[in-house]
Amino acid sequence: MIDFGYSLTPSSTIEIDDADMSLFDELCAAEPDAIKCMSCGSCAASCSAGVFTDLNLRKVLLGLQRGCEEDVLPQLKSCMLCGKCQIVCPRGINTRHLILSICKIYNI
Ligand code: SF4
Ligand code: SF4
Repeated sequence: MIDFGYSLTPSSTIEIDDADMSLFDELCAAEPDAIKCMSCGSCAASCSAGVFTDLNLRKVLLGLQRGCEEDVLPQLKSCMLCGKCQIVCPRGINTRHLILSICKIYNI
């Protein structure tokens, strides 16, 4: 094979129509804030736990919205429920309550 100095990475395409969104629908019914997130990243930038762990609330919510919960839910084990993300969220999302609802509905 010719070495062009770069390689193709595996596709990260998500087949949203094939994803099982039943738990996310249940989450949205209990917690409408789950679809308010605009992925600005303010929560992740202010998160103390994110400095030392892979916790990134923006990525967690994006993963849930795309039906990729198994890839992102383990991150929530590092959350301290400190509420800093709630203070900075421009959408006014009650992130602590949302995180607790996620843990309950996704059984983590
Ligand atoms: S509540 Fe959790 S996600 Fe939000 S800033 Fe605190 S540790 Fe990070
Ligand atoms: S700060 Fe709020 S709107 Fe921005 S990514 Fe976090 S939860 Fe979403």
